[in-house]
Amino acid sequence: MNELIGRVFSFGKDVFHHQSELYAKLSEGQSPKALIISCADSRVVPEHIVQAAPGDLFVCRNAGNIVPPYGNQNGGVTSTVEYAVMVLGVTDIVVCGHSDCGAMKAFLHPEALEKMPNVAAWLRHSHAAHSVVCNAYPDLAPDAYVRAMALENVVVQINHLRTHPCVASAIAEGKLTLHGWLFDIETTSILALDGATGRFAKPKGPVLPVAVAAGRRVASEQAAE
Ligand SMILES: [Zn+2]
Repeated sequence: MNELIGRVFSFGKDVFHHQSELYAKLSEGQSPKALIISCADSRVVPEHIVQAAPGDLFVCRNAGNIVPPYGNQNGGVTSTVEYAVMVLGVTDIVVCGHSDCGAMKAFLHPEALEKMPNVAAWLRHSHAAHSVVCNAYPDLAPDAYVRAMALENVVVQINHLRTHPCVASAIAEGKLTLHGWLFDIETTSILALDGATGRFAKPKGPVLPVAVAAGRRVASEQAAE
């Protein structure tokens, strides 16, 4: 048996035993503090990054930390977002990209996707990032291209999130804040998107820059008064 899979037999004794009180409480229901949408990459573990305990985080992982824009097609990410916002009432959603992302590298080698039609179709949701990087930052070396793609992809997926009615209204009601992060595997540091400047920066001090602040309204004359 795969040694990793076999560890399930010792979960009860080695892990659950020490957290039985917590699990007893969680058996009555969940009230996670945030939804995090990250890449499925094995090196990016959201619970580790924010030192979360069971019950703290609602997590959605997929290749490329993608959020399809709102539309007629049902999907796992869309359903997860809707449930997190409307039922669990999370106050924060984090889109977390990362360095050295295989999904972003795929744009350098599109021929490799010919035998993976589902991956190719999924990555269409990142084409806007590809277009931005190719036209706004031309002539990047491959490593710099992949990093720029990861950053711009977070921006694109934050914009997609805002097309979901439940997200748009929760922001406007002042109940929901969006965050865009890049996890750097080599330095284990986080860059956070500052929506006010449009730039990613290393957070300094206790205040974390946010991508979209709760309650930010730009269209309503009434709200601006
Ligand atoms: Zn990735």
